[in-house]
Amino acid sequence: MNTPSNRVLHFLYHELSSVPQAYTYALDKDAFRDQLDLFRQTSVGERIAAKVTFDDGHISNYDIAFPMLADRGMTADFFLTANWIGKRPGYMNWGQVRDMYAAGQQIGAHGWSHKLLTHCNSAELHLELVAARKLLEDELGAPVTSLSFPGGRFNKRILAACVDAGYTSMFTSIPQLTTLPISSLTGRLNVRGDWSLSYIESLLDPEKDVLRGLERQDKLKGLVKRIVGDTLYGWIWSAANREGSSKAASADDRI
Ligand SMILES: [Zn+2]
Repeated sequence: MNTPSNRVLHFLYHELSSVPQAYTYALDKDAFRDQLDLFRQTSVGERIAAKVTFDDGHISNYDIAFPMLADRGMTADFFLTANWIGKRPGYMNWGQVRDMYAAGQQIGAHGWSHKLLTHCNSAELHLELVAARKLLEDELGAPVTSLSFPGGRFNKRILAACVDAGYTSMFTSIPQLTTLPISSLTGRLNVRGDWSLSYIESLLDPEKDVLRGLERQDKLKGLVKRIVGDTLYGWIWSAANREGSSKAASADDRI
């Protein structure tokens, strides 16, 4: 039979909430707790392991996710947009980031300003990759060598720039299973707020092969992106995932 114990699926979260949100990737806090409890269960038979990651540094990561993880002795990777910390309303401050790090949570970079890296010239890339890493390292007093791509956007040029900037682990938003130990490029599944616990459980069942359908969808998304262009795709995506087109820009801004 399969030997799935070395296989892991990385889940990507953004915001948690105790009230319903229009944002597709905001998750009810009770749903998140149930998912953590599912992930923590001793692996039964052939089940795929789960790993939790968060992007952007929303305050709910600290207020809601951090205590739930700590209660269960679990850790997650938090990828933070460096220049939002202590500056952008609704996002964490440095004291909170240091608290989480001191408690064993992992901290990675998610750019300086959240600008899509594929849209950056070399000076902008330096800010988004090098300056962001340095600020995080200075504030934490520890090395930061992992990064997730804002908006999930990357290409060969961006990967080379990440390596030059000293990152050794890069995380995408492409749903893929990872075989341990993780390679330098790791796929993640962007969790939607409307997914049921049984659906999440089915993703971890290799017999059901649910992930393969998502991988196909993602390939289709990539094709559409190439046809309509990245900027237009971002606008379409935002309009489809948040009520009200006036909020489109800020929605894309946050993923
Ligand atoms: Zn993001």
